[in-house]
Amino acid sequence: MDEILQKVKEIDIRQVARDLGFDVIQTRRMLCPFHAEDTPSLVFYPPPQNEFHCFGCGKRGDVINLYADVCQIDFKTALDELAIKYIPYYEGYGSIKTRKIDIKSIYTRKPVQEKRFVFQTKFSEIYEDFQKFCLNLPATESARKAAEYLRGRGIDDWTIRHFKLFVLKNYGLANDYLKEKYKTEDLIASGIVNERGNLVFFKHPIIIPYYQNDRIVYLQGRTIGEPSEGTNKYQFMTGIPRTIFNIDLLKKLPGNSEVYVTEGAFDCMTLFRQGLSAVSLGSAKTFKKEWVKYFKKFKVWIWFDNDDAGKKGTIDLMEELYLNGITVDRKYLPDGIKDINEFFQKK
Ligand SMILES: [Zn+2]
Repeated sequence: MDEILQKVKEIDIRQVARDLGFDVIQTRRMLCPFHAEDTPSLVFYPPPQNEFHCFGCGKRGDVINLYADVCQIDFKTALDELAIKYIPYYEGYGSIKTRKIDIKSIYTRKPVQEKRFVFQTKFSEIYEDFQKFCLNLPATESARKAAEYLRGRGIDDWTIRHFKLFVLKNYGLANDYLKEKYKTEDLIASGIVNERGNLVFFKHPIIIPYYQNDRIVYLQGRTIGEPSEGTNKYQFMTGIPRTIFNIDLLKKLPGNSEVYVTEGAFDCMTLFRQGLSAVSLGSAKTFKKEWVKYFKKFKVWIWFDNDDAGKKGTIDLMEELYLNGITVDRKYLPDGIKDINEFFQKK
């Protein structure tokens, strides 16, 4: 079964989309069947990645997900049907089905009413109170290690103060403080604690606050140094939509300014310290359509990481911004340098 799964995952996703009757434009894009739109924002990543991603509604997946969701069947059925249709000599449980998909009705299908997230001011209050509590605690060993680590990455005291980074110096105390002061349901809704009511930054004591209109609207945690096996470098908050890091800068800049768009927050801080106007998206694939408006009056430089995700993300974002009439170009990193932060460290 695993072998078949692998083979099916390799069937060119654009071919499957075409066979379903969709109009795939220049082998790259099509109108998204999962939300209502007039201009195509569903992008295909050709093999070997073989996935789709909609910049409009954020839906993404592989060829089996696409087929299953368009046909409204489960994953296993989709896998079997695709195997019967596309894999030679596969003997599945049925005969080849040519699904009659009414493309027109799919496009007018009411978008699934998803639970709309409403950001509440009290979330900002919780984040800011948490920040204040952490800053007021006396220095600890982990605070010293965090500062040392940040300095090692070229994030100096000025930068730390400017971006108001802070360290979760004492997990237990901060946890107790929040639990005592706020309702558990509010803490969970704000994304700062998990379902069990504990702070999500257990292994990620360096906290990067995201500000919008001078209020903290998101928190991102970072491990001190490289993470241990099975831990991610970053801890994001689940259920809370992330905004652009350093977004308030864009309001202050005059038109036609040059703006650098980076992946990681540390890359953004590094460029900012160099005197450049920079914002970061958190990753190479998280750009949202509703963010286009923030960049309308600028000349945008995209400067992502030097890996496959960064390179693909650069091309997609350039296309997205270009199609929206924004002047956009890209910067390159030299071979062997993984990101902007490292580039300026080694310079
Ligand atoms: Zn969509």
